[in-house]
Amino acid sequence: MTGMKKEQWRKQAACAGVPITVFIFDDEVKYHKDTKLQALEYCDQCPVIWDCLRFAYDNNIQHGIYGGLTTKERRKFRFQFRVLDQEKKNNT
Ligand code: SF4
Repeated sequence: MTGMKKEQWRKQAACAGVPITVFIFDDEVKYHKDTKLQALEYCDQCPVIWDCLRFAYDNNIQHGIYGGLTTKERRKFRFQFRVLDQEKKNNT
């Protein structure tokens, strides 16, 4: 988490109050393209997009959109997160 507790960043989310079904679906299975686009409209203007993405990575979340990315898209960033974590350890 980037300096904010879990509860704090969620309160600032652009998707606060939006039905969870807009963001959580099994994207390993075919999902409705319009649902994904609707979710990304919120993420695109979200002030806590990084915290959300980091939360999904730290908790190994395998479904839905977090940080503006689908599960498949997030998998591509796993290496970058590991590098960031290692650099952080090395600098402390
Ligand atoms: S990045 Fe998207 S899914 Fe994550 S909190 Fe923001 S609007 Fe919600």
